Amino acid sequence: MSGNESRLQAIYQITNREPISVETPEPLSKIWACDVFNLAKMEESLSKTAFKAIKKTVQSGTPLDSATADVVAAAMKEWALSKGVKFFSHIFFPLTNITAEKHDGFIVTNSDGRAITEFSGSLLIKGEPDGSSFPVGSIRMTNAARGYTAWDPTSPVYIMHTDNGATLMIPSVFMSWTGEALDKKIPLLRSTDAMNKAAHKVLSLMGETDIAPLNSSCGAEQEYFLVDSNFANSRPDLLLAGRTLFGTPPAKGQEFDDHYFGAIPARVQVFMQDLEDQLYRLGIPAKTHHNEVAPGQFEIAPYFETANIAADHQQLMMTLLKGTAKKHGFLCLLHEKPFAGINGSGKHVNWSVGNSTQGNLLDPGSTPHENLNFLLFCGAVIRGVNQFGPLLRAGIASAANDHRLGANEAPPAILSVYLGDQLEKVFQDIKDGKVTTTESGGTMDLGLSQILHFERDPGDRNRTSPFAFTGNRFEFRAVGSSQSASGPLVIMNTMLADSLNWIAEKLEAELTKGTDKAIAVIAVLKTLMNENGNVLFGGDGYSEEWHRMAVAERGLRNIPTTADALPVLHEDSVKKLFESTGVLSAVELQSRYEVYAEQYILSIEVEAKLVIDMAKTSIYPAAIRYLSDLSMASASMAEMNIDMDSSIAKTVASEASAMMLAVGKLSEAMKKHDFASTDEHMQFCANDILGLMNEVRLHADTLETEVADELWPLPKYQEMLFIK
Ligand code: ADP
Ligand code: MG
Repeated sequence: MSGNESRLQAIYQITNREPISVETPEPLSKIWACDVFNLAKMEESLSKTAFKAIKKTVQSGTPLDSATADVVAAAMKEWALSKGVKFFSHIFFPLTNITAEKHDGFIVTNSDGRAITEFSGSLLIKGEPDGSSFPVGSIRMTNAARGYTAWDPTSPVYIMHTDNGATLMIPSVFMSWTGEALDKKIPLLRSTDAMNKAAHKVLSLMGETDIAPLNSSCGAEQEYFLVDSNFANSRPDLLLAGRTLFGTPPAKGQEFDDHYFGAIPARVQVFMQDLEDQLYRLGIPAKTHHNEVAPGQFEIAPYFETANIAADHQQLMMTLLKGTAKKHGFLCLLHEKPFAGINGSGKHVNWSVGNSTQGNLLDPGSTPHENLNFLLFCGAVIRGVNQFGPLLRAGIASAANDHRLGANEAPPAILSVYLGDQLEKVFQDIKDGKVTTTESGGTMDLGLSQILHFERDPGDRNRTSPFAFTGNRFEFRAVGSSQSASGPLVIMNTMLADSLNWIAEKLEAELTKGTDKAIAVIAVLKTLMNENGNVLFGGDGYSEEWHRMAVAERGLRNIPTTADALPVLHEDSVKKLFESTGVLSAVELQSRYEVYAEQYILSIEVEAKLVIDMAKTSIYPAAIRYLSDLSMASASMAEMNIDMDSSIAKTVASEASAMMLAVGKLSEAMKKHDFASTDEHMQFCANDILGLMNEVRLHADTLETEVADELWPLPKYQEMLFIK
């Protein structure tokens, strides 16, 4: 289709769309986790001893012997075959934000030519995909680029249904032949281990004797946009870059605030119901869904789970969001900033730490100043963010998320901690050496007899903070919507491990002096606050004043782009953090820097090529066609001696020329290849390439407001954002 034809077709298709028939969903009790081989199903099909062994592995990570692995594999195969499964696949999480899988049949042929199904413990435990097809940075793999996947028994296997049939999916880690982590799961498991060991030390010093293994929990809130696929198909930028590279904000945007928590459009409700049905079958506890701030934007939040499982589920959910949207005639955009001038999408990662014996260690209870374990763990988080704020920023750095961080809608690129009034006072008092008391929030009484009274939370919410305490957990809000939750979880667990080790050392020194336990804790926290209290901030994180003060007075770092953030991975303190906790070796860390830097450069280069292509082949021709219409009209008018206004023609002509001039400069810049270092290349993308892309866009967007609507080739924001 040429010119604006596809755009008009799209509008026609959408306005004439037949509503999708809605099937009544099956009751939750019937479908919940029906496609997951969880502990309950293992108990049904395994002997008592085998079940005991696998349960211990699942719950506390103890290794499984190969005989039991064989038994588990056999039971798994029987269950899968009974559900019509023909293939199995180790699913793993390479350094991209997507998953990878290699499918194998259960089938083997024996010597007399008959086909039998086979699945042994060793097949379950180990897979061997070609490591060289995944980004590995500088980890050179010997022996024909061999990579291994290995079963992670702590995350349950499940069945994935697609149009091609059903596959048994085995969550796995992915490593090189030499044993280096090539994925996002290995560091997550190692970081949990490091955190568990450090927490154990602190709790033992606090006199706890019965201490179950500690784990972190994660509940990730996922924001996303839905755009009708008829529109998306006419926007190469949405299809290839996941965001609009051109487009002016609609006359009616989000300023009316009527989308947030508003009624969900019927078509989207059907989509959400279909999605939730699939999530429930996979044992993913989707809990809330609602509209977001921007038109066309929505959120889904599963109930929190163990970090490792939550991260796997989060990844699966992104895959299902995309696939299900397609089925319903939508393109699901997980990009952090699909539309300029419209709210972007984040993934708030709610995170806490606890176990079955001490409970949630970030739960303050009603008298936090007396809850010593809580104070220590909360203090450890404060120290972690202060010491490793730049690392947290690097952990969420991507070309896409850069468009969101720092704009006045998303948390700033400066990492600070919000505790709420009550807790901030407790920690300030400890710092100032004052005895503390805490006041509850008081009772909320609306004066309406039909509304029951409820306890008000002791602190309000602060939506402008990148890292906020929200009652019994921290919420890392700067994470981007398309990112895996694993990276941020690894950094949070590791910084917590480091801080807890620091606390354990100081606390032990105090206690061996014979200091009373409570006094020792307060003394350690006083030192901690003196060194790290500057990271606490309860004010407006979007304000200019904070941007100035954070850097000048608090000594915090403002790291606006990925090009500035990724070099943080080379800092000594970061290398030391990962090496001392055993989470990442220097080689593994370096390979991550290289992979992420390459992804950053590549994604900006792809966008730049698209900008050049779209400006030249669709926007410029539309402008020229309009100019020719105008000049023909003007010539006819002149014949009739009628004066015609020529201001639009002049604007269109000058904007079109200015746009092409900028396109020329951008094409020239794209030819540069001689960079002294990767850092320099990233800076060039962040400043020169993105700068020129914006220059092209500025003129193109002006043209959109000048050129006749019927000639405009690209679906407009107002069309894409308001779903029918
Ligand atoms: P909001 O939008 O107000 O931040 P939501 O209810 O949408 O809140 O999401 C809160 C998320 O935090 C949910 O996924 C919830 O399960 C999760 N959460 C609650 N308690 C914890 C906890 N202790 N650890 C981790 N996540 C938690
Ligand atoms: Mg939230």
